[in-house]
Amino acid sequence: MAIYYTEPSRTFSEYLLLPNLTTKDCTPDRVDLTTPLVRFRRGTRPSLSMQLPLASAIMQSVSDDNMAIALAECGGISFLYGSQAVEKQAQMVRNVKAKGLIVGAGINTRDHETRVPALVEAGVDILCIDSSDGYTEWQRDTIEYIKNYDSNVKVGAGNVVGREGFLYLADAGADFVKVGIGGGSMCITREQKGIGRGQASALIDVAAARDEYFNATNTYIPICSDGGIVHDHHIIFALGMGADFVMMGRYFARFDESPTRKLMLNGQPVKEFWGEGSNRARNWQRYDTGGINSLEFEEGIDCYIPAIGPLKDNMTTTVSKIKSTMCNCGAKSIHELQKKARFTLVSQLTYLEGGAHDVIQKNDYVHAEAVLPSAE
Ligand code: IMP
Repeated sequence: MAIYYTEPSRTFSEYLLLPNLTTKDCTPDRVDLTTPLVRFRRGTRPSLSMQLPLASAIMQSVSDDNMAIALAECGGISFLYGSQAVEKQAQMVRNVKAKGLIVGAGINTRDHETRVPALVEAGVDILCIDSSDGYTEWQRDTIEYIKNYDSNVKVGAGNVVGREGFLYLADAGADFVKVGIGGGSMCITREQKGIGRGQASALIDVAAARDEYFNATNTYIPICSDGGIVHDHHIIFALGMGADFVMMGRYFARFDESPTRKLMLNGQPVKEFWGEGSNRARNWQRYDTGGINSLEFEEGIDCYIPAIGPLKDNMTTTVSKIKSTMCNCGAKSIHELQKKARFTLVSQLTYLEGGAHDVIQKNDYVHAEAVLPSAE
């Protein structure tokens, strides 16, 4: 008989954070967002960490060398898309490393024996196996291959949505584990295949498994929340629910630095954006459906998103929101936030109450006229 989990799976928007006591020393300038990228033993420091918990997605429309340079300069990391020729991807790595900056790269479980050596040779800092479903023997074998090739090479794996998947990849030797199936902004995996889980539930479950694993083995394995970040506060929720960093596609694709064209749509500037599982990306390595070099059905769409200018300005705003909310929660580090965060579920009406309501909002078409004194 099938197993039924009767609790519904939840998304970020179904939660709110409750404030904790903010002590006087807890100010945004004192908040440290440094976060580990790779597994480490209790009492030691991770060999790779980053200043900001923000990674750009392994996507053609998001992470090329130009994006990687802009993001790394701000303290985050890009994972260069793997759905391109090995030599082109290796050249992108070299372009980022020429600036003495940190860079990651996406790989797959088919051509790793040629791709991994080329990327390592080019100086890549960390790899990530890019797949919509990472709870597979192919991922285990790929990690094993990499660790045999050179045990110093770091590799993340995923994606998973629960404790079994996490434990499998942790035991296989993954340096971090990526969480999330079907929550991406351009993703239709849940519609097409009926697999996935609400991002908040997936993360909460995996974070609990990660903490148990740490207690049992003294090895801490960072987790990355991938997909479904719509508002800046979702990043804070992900961190509070246990993520060490988040991966985002849509968020970064909106910036001038992303690889795609900026166009005008109904008078508004937009950027092109497409999923790795769309026909446009033709990424059969991530979404193999049986055919060679072809997708038999799509798991992502080809779309537009509003263009919002340069990465640095927008990320500065995002980071100040993260730090400000962390102060509300009485947390000066991500680790402290993970320990202290208190979440409440919201009702539909609480959700509505959270937006502007019962007011007449001003916009380009709605503006009031001055009331003239009556002529008596
Ligand atoms: P976003 O931040 O909500 O835009 O989600 C980005 C994430 O969506 C990526 O990091 C991938 O895990 C996932 N993704 C990328 N392309 C596809 C696709 O075509 N179908 C489903 N998921 C995708």
